[in-house]
Amino acid sequence: MRFVITAGPTREPIDPVRYLTNRSSGKMGYALAAAAVAHGHQVLLVSGPTQIDIPDGVDFLPVETAQEMFDAVRLQCAGKDVAILCAAVADYRPAIQSPQKIKKAQERMTLELERTQDILGSMRSVFGFSGVLVGFAAETQEVESNARQKLQSKGCDLIVANDVSRADIGFDASENEVLLVYEGHTFLLPKAEKLAVAHHIIQAVIDLV
Ligand code: C5P
Repeated sequence: MRFVITAGPTREPIDPVRYLTNRSSGKMGYALAAAAVAHGHQVLLVSGPTQIDIPDGVDFLPVETAQEMFDAVRLQCAGKDVAILCAAVADYRPAIQSPQKIKKAQERMTLELERTQDILGSMRSVFGFSGVLVGFAAETQEVESNARQKLQSKGCDLIVANDVSRADIGFDASENEVLLVYEGHTFLLPKAEKLAVAHHIIQAVIDLV
């Protein structure tokens, strides 16, 4: 089957030398890409900037901003059987990107932000994607109920939810413990290396197909 997987953070420029980003390392998305290839699938990995090697056998499309990731996924999701959107896409970006480096002047300055486009939320309604759709939910509270709400509002078949308030799993950690949240039930994948978790998630996706 053909997969498109998003991974990593995005970078939202403030000026030519500064940007807004988040703590995503990209490890979970890269592990998913490697696991899908190991299961014999064709994978396009659309990734924000990370420090990780591209897994063997994966087609790779690097992006920086949320808008670039949106445009890449819009073009590339056509004809894919499965989309796993694992990237930590910025929800807001600077409303104005200064063409010159901003000089320090006042004691305080205000940065105005505007919403970025929701890629996952556009998959069904805007891009017309009809394959298996998997989203991720990074939550610090009410993990399962927030994930279930996301499952419905974004038209997903599965939400993989993790508790990012824990230091031992999730953002930048090598291990993860996730909840697989489906329409009618929830399944806990116990704490393990991200690659092992990724193999279970890919198997869960295959079962959905
Ligand atoms: O709504 P929230 O951002 O918490 O949802 C997280 C999920 O949505 C993840 O799967 C993430 O990859 C995806 N997402 C997206 N585009 C955005 C924000 C989040 O695809 N702009």
